[in-house]
Amino acid sequence: MARYTAAVCRLCRREGEKLFLKGQRCYTGKCSIVRRSFAPGQHGQGRKKISEYGTQLREKQKTKRFYGVLESQFRKTYATAENMKGKTGENLLRLLELRFDNVVYRMGLANSRSEARQLVTHGHFTLNGKKADIPSMTLKAGDEIAVRESSRKSPKFQDLIRRPVPAWLSFNAETLSGSIVQIPDRTDVDIEVRETLIVELYSK
Ligand code: SF4
Repeated sequence: MARYTAAVCRLCRREGEKLFLKGQRCYTGKCSIVRRSFAPGQHGQGRKKISEYGTQLREKQKTKRFYGVLESQFRKTYATAENMKGKTGENLLRLLELRFDNVVYRMGLANSRSEARQLVTHGHFTLNGKKADIPSMTLKAGDEIAVRESSRKSPKFQDLIRRPVPAWLSFNAETLSGSIVQIPDRTDVDIEVRETLIVELYSK
């Protein structure tokens, strides 16, 4: 599976905001955005005049990077969102939130989405009682996620740093399991993105 392997803090600096790609470091003074709040590269501190297309592109890139999704998968998710009832932009964010790796991250079972993806791929979870290891799976209301019995004693899951779990999910820290209570609304999605710009970009 293709994935981004270069320094992830550059992605935040490029987008000019925190995308929370590095776990606990993102919440400390070591965050690169705090220390160097300008775009990476030779011309990162230069004056920027951004076109309409550039603004739309940045919103798309920021969203992709926030969820750790590459272009082809993002396109596929967008195509699915287009075929759903309702607003395409909101459907897109809903589908991204419902990815298996994102749900694992939102439940606080991983410190970052990339770590969540790795844990899912390595087979540490069950979905509705069966082993599941595909991070891009779209989950639905009522789905139950749990850390597998054989993985529960792993230090990975013993030393979890608790974060607030969003209202559309339930989580039990004792049993390391939770479920999707309801499909998330737009207001449940905390990324600061203007999704209509992504729709405009892909509608060209
Ligand atoms: Fe982004 Fe986290 Fe790096 Fe800060 S520490 S720049 S939020 S990935």
